[in-house]
This record gives sequence, structure tokens and C-alpha cells, in this order.
Amino acid sequence: MITKFFRKLLGGRKTPAQAAPTAPPAGRSRKREAGPLSVGPETHGIDPRLVASNAVRVTRTLQEAGHKAFIVGGAVRDLMLGVKPKDFDVATDATPEEVSHLFRRARIIGRRFRLVHVMFGNDTIEVSTFRSNQPADAETDVHGRVLRDNVFGSMEDDATRRDFTVNALYYDPATQTVIDYHHGTEDIRSKTMRIIGDPQRRFTEDPVRMLRAVRLAGKLGFEIDPATRAPIVELAPLMQNVPAARLFDEMLKLLLSGHALTCLKRLRAEGLHHGLLPLLDVVFEQPLGERFVTLALSSTDERIRAGKPTSPSFLFACLLWHEVLKAWEENKARGEYPIPALSEAMDSVLEAQTDSLAIQRRLVADMREIWGLQPRLERRSGRSPYRLLEHLRFRAGYDFLLLRCEAGECDASLGDWWTRFIEADAANREALQNELTQGTGPAAAKRKRRRKKRPAEAGVGAAGALDEMAAVPGDAKPPEGAA
Ligand code: ATP
Ligand code: MG
Repeated sequence: MITKFFRKLLGGRKTPAQAAPTAPPAGRSRKREAGPLSVGPETHGIDPRLVASNAVRVTRTLQEAGHKAFIVGGAVRDLMLGVKPKDFDVATDATPEEVSHLFRRARIIGRRFRLVHVMFGNDTIEVSTFRSNQPADAETDVHGRVLRDNVFGSMEDDATRRDFTVNALYYDPATQTVIDYHHGTEDIRSKTMRIIGDPQRRFTEDPVRMLRAVRLAGKLGFEIDPATRAPIVELAPLMQNVPAARLFDEMLKLLLSGHALTCLKRLRAEGLHHGLLPLLDVVFEQPLGERFVTLALSSTDERIRAGKPTSPSFLFACLLWHEVLKAWEENKARGEYPIPALSEAMDSVLEAQTDSLAIQRRLVADMREIWGLQPRLERRSGRSPYRLLEHLRFRAGYDFLLLRCEAGECDASLGDWWTRFIEADAANREALQNELTQGTGPAAAKRKRRRKKRPAEAGVGAAGALDEMAAVPGDAKPPEGAA
């Protein structure tokens, strides 16, 4: 099978210098001594219809101006896997200034390493100048993490400084050729994440690569090559020195990859979750919340794979919900009233997370609203449910409630009632409210059963806590079922 594949690879070669790849030594990233492979369409199998026309425009314009230009990175990898890439990056030998002069709407961004954003309507193609690999004397922190990598280089240098062999492929849409310096084509075929160069050195230079190995393997359904994987356990603590904002970006990508559940399980298996982000320590160590978190992640994964929108704040609200519940219970046990107790619980949980910038502050307001809506969704009499329907974050709060129902932490009849209430016309909405006060209908029957059970449930789980909320002192509306 492998021999046949090599024969195919050779079928795509262009020059004698690229002939006869030697069998790679097992387990390590290997650079091709004889220059890069030039892989033709019959081997790489890229469907030109999946290539964004704007990316083609960019490479064509650069090439017509006498420059080298290729689509590069994750986009080529995804194209070779038959997946439509979500964004396209272009690499070129033109300097940022040269690139920006060639396009009407182009903006040079970045201080440390300058890139060009070329814009077409809402679409942006990121164009970077070939960058050099780390020189031996690159400036590092005390742990060996490289602090600057802003030197331009050759195309070959650019391939070598990339993280994984499958991310170091260059596609020229004009000739439909993939240039492969590090046997990435072969690794795509065998579904292997293999770091370029010495794993220990590359992970030390940039520990985020460990997280990327796990994320990309989870997303693509690849295995991490054993030699790449080996040093991760030992080097995992280096993650703690990475700036939190950068970690957050990678984590967000992981959580919104459509494969979050698989990725998080793999992170745990690699020992990478500890100390990585406060959030992850929490997620895995809350036994009560495990079912809830699993449900939340798989439903988010499903939505993403179906192309539906998802919000990071909703996801983070799910991941931390049981921490909030725990703190809420503790505050109430100290004698605080439920509403201030909840508010304080949110503060303490969020503070622990945002202190290290793990969760960006812009998400925090949304998360608070989603949590704060939970006890309010328990109140269904009078004007209360109508006011809730008008709430800006109602939909998120309601979806969150449905997840809680599914996880068995609050009565399914509450979620059902809201589903019917949302869909009902004015008359039916009134009937639904009457159903509650008159003690008829399935919701009321279930509620009665639940009330009988309450002594045994007191103090555990969300349902108990939230029922109490309905009886907040000073609340203008009587708790439901009080009539
Ligand atoms: P995704 O599909 O999830 O975006 P990606 O591989 O495209 O995955 P990006 O963060 O968009 O990830 O990075 C684009 C490319 O830049 C990568 O394919 C890789 O070649 C290079 N790259 C990204 N991060 C690193 C890193 N930490 N070290 C070396 N190269 C990197
Ligand atoms: Mg990408």
C-alpha cells in the first residue's frame, strides 16, 4: 500500500532533483534532502472548486507581479482531506509593503511579525512573507520559549519553521501543484500529526504546539506520531509560561472545532489539562457536572458540524455552571439570601478564571446573564414569562435550561413548558399559565410529584437550589403552585 502511494507521489514529480524519495526513518520528522516533492493533482486530489476564488486572485496577482505565492498551512491540509477550509492563508516572497501595493484594499497588521490582510467584501485573505526558522541564538525566556520570530527567510525556511508536516504544504492554484518539503503528503495519507524537527526543541520553543497537536489530531481524526507525543508529558508544565491571551485563542479554537469533546478527552490523556487553563482543571474535576459538561460539549459539537452558529459565552457558561452551583450552595449555607448568594458565586468563579485572562472579559457579561436567567425561568406566573421573552439573552438562557433538563438536573416539564409557551399564541399562553395555577396539565402533575420528593433532594443539585430562588423574600410574585 505504502509502495503504491510512493509510486503515486513520484508520478507527480517535476524535476529529477525531486526523484526517488528515500524511505523515511520511523518516528521522526524528516526533511527531504533532495529538495521538495512536487505533488500533482492526481495524487493530492484537491478539488479546485473548494479553493476560494479570492485566495486564487491573491496568488495570481502576486505571481503576475513576479513573486512566488502559494496557499499554505491548514487550508492545504484541509483541501487534501476533501474538507472546505474555513480560511485561506497565502505565503509569498514579497515583502508586506510589496504585497500591500498590489491590492486596493490591503492593510499591514501586526507589530512583531507584519502580515497583510487583503480584503474582498467580508472576506479576508491573510498574506505572510516567508519567514525564517528560529536561529540558534533566538531570544528566549528562561524556559526556552522563543520570544521573537520576525526574520524573513526562504520558502524552505518557511516550511521548516511551521509546526507539523501536514501544515507545511504549499499549493499553487495556477499549476494545481502541492510543494512538500517534509513528507506532509504522506502524513496526511497515514493520518499522522508529526512535528517538524526535534519534538523536544520545537515544543520548548513554543509550548502551544503541544496543544495544537492535540487539537488538530482531535479535529482531523489523526494520531500523534509516537516520537512527537513522547516529550509532551514531561513538557506539559511549560504551558504555564505561555501568555494567557494566546492560550485562550487556541482553547477557543479547540472548543469551537466541532470536536471539543474528543479534544478535551485527548488533552486529559496527554496530561495537558492540568494548569493549562483554570477552566480545564475545573471541568474535569467536577464529578456532578460531568454529565452536564459532556452534554453541552456534544450538543455544541453537533451544532458546529451542522453549520449552526454557537456562542463562546454559552459554552463557557456551560463549562463553569457547576462551579457556580457549588459556590452558590456554599454561600447559601453561610446564610446568604439566594439572589446575592448567586451573584457572589458568579463573581468568585469568574474572578478565578479571568484573573489569568483565561476567559476574556467581553464574554463574562453574557455568561452572567445566562446564569442569572436560570432562576428567573422558574417563575412562570403573571408578567414574568412575558418579560423574559423580551430579554436579549432569553434564547441562550432557554437553551441552557434545556441542557439542564436533559442532564436531569431540573425537571423536564419546566423545559417542555417553555417550549410550548414560546410557540403558543396569546390565548394558549394564558392557558399554559392557568395550567400551572390550577394544578392541571402535565407540568403541574410533575411539579406536584417533585415537591413531594423535595426533602430527600434538599441541598443537592440545581433543582433544589433553583426552587428556593422562586421563594426569594420580597419577590413581588408568589412562587408558582402557591395558589
Ligand atoms: P485551523 O484549521 O484550526 O485554523 P491551522 O493549522 O490553519 O488550523 P492556524 O492557527 O490558522 O492553524 O495556523 C496557520 C498555519 O500557521 C499552520 O498551518 C502552521 O503552518 C502555522 N502555525 C500556526 N501556529 C504555529 C506554531 N505555533 N508554530 C509553528 N507554526 C505554526
Ligand atoms: Mg487556519
